[in-house]
Amino acid sequence: MASPPSPPLTRSTVTGNLCKMPGRPAPSISFNCVDNSLSSLKNCQAYINTGMEIATSVALDLLENGCDTTEVTSMETVMLEYATMDRDLNQYIHAVEDTVHKLKQDQPEQIPDIKGLVKESFVALQSKNTDMDLRKNDRFVNFKEQLRDMRQQIGLSQDGPDETAFEEYDEDVAVTQSQINFICPITQMEMINPVKNKVCGHTYEKDAIERMIQNRHQKKKKARCPKVGCDHSDMKITDLVPDTALKRAIEIQNKQKGRR
Ligand SMILES: [Zn+2]
Repeated sequence: MASPPSPPLTRSTVTGNLCKMPGRPAPSISFNCVDNSLSSLKNCQAYINTGMEIATSVALDLLENGCDTTEVTSMETVMLEYATMDRDLNQYIHAVEDTVHKLKQDQPEQIPDIKGLVKESFVALQSKNTDMDLRKNDRFVNFKEQLRDMRQQIGLSQDGPDETAFEEYDEDVAVTQSQINFICPITQMEMINPVKNKVCGHTYEKDAIERMIQNRHQKKKKARCPKVGCDHSDMKITDLVPDTALKRAIEIQNKQKGRR
């Protein structure tokens, strides 16, 4: 079979063919490079998160070992510094994404000053920042809650029944208040990786609650908090935060059990 003769390649036929291709956008600026840089920036976010987890852990360690409050407060400063970095990074990513989005829509003929546009958008976002925002950072809020819980737990262990009192009970029968809180309402087992629901304050085993919420959402249904008596009926995985203080309390209890 003879193929039809190809038309001579001229500038007009090339652009003509391009225009006829369905779904093909008009020649525009390539944003691959921007996309790559954005994904590296998003990696930085993971480092900030890790940093905040470590700072939280250090603060809890300090508290647990009875260090004076100035040292714990210095970890709070570190947390706020991380929160600032997190906010800057988010706003910068936001500014870049916004600019790229606008350029993709407008499709300007000439390559604009992308850097300048991003900066403009970034400065606009930053101008609305306040110090109060930093204190609303999820991980900072979690940090404060963990410290408060730890303070309570330390307080409780000082006033509550001491270890010798425990030994008088049959271990299987004695279910203390603290042990009840260590039990996941879904698995009915002691938690290993407890997470706390920011909305209602209940805690569950991480894997179990995540599976439960996912199952319900797959069925297009709302997930109700499994804790008896809780009326929170629309749980979200994003509302779950690691409960480091509780995790430690469980670990400490198990270490003490192991020693006996
Ligand atoms: Zn609940």
